[in-house]
Amino acid sequence: MKIELEKISEHVGDTGDFIKLNVDKCVGCGNCALVCVMNLWLMRGGKAQLKDDYTQKCLECAACYSVCDVGAIDFSYPAGGTGVVFLKG
Ligand code: SF4
Ligand code: SF4
Repeated sequence: MKIELEKISEHVGDTGDFIKLNVDKCVGCGNCALVCVMNLWLMRGGKAQLKDDYTQKCLECAACYSVCDVGAIDFSYPAGGTGVVFLKG
């Protein structure tokens, strides 16, 4: 049975921006887009781009941050009480 994310999680509060991309450092390897299970990274003109609505869909796994070898992605967990809350698991 296919899992519907909306049924197993909800987004609460205002996280603010918790992922920041330094475009100047990005070398366009595409690793962030490859590992993001929520498909929140786009490659445009040889550079990564984070979707505008990422705060609503991001699972806060930090995989994008982990695979960026050049340090172009800055990640910090949203403040307590905000972000994705899993209803199951
Ligand atoms: S992993 Fe880093 S260097 Fe590679 S495309 Fe993403 S932001 Fe750019
Ligand atoms: S933290 Fe995880 S879900 Fe969020 S943008 Fe990065 S890879 Fe995607």
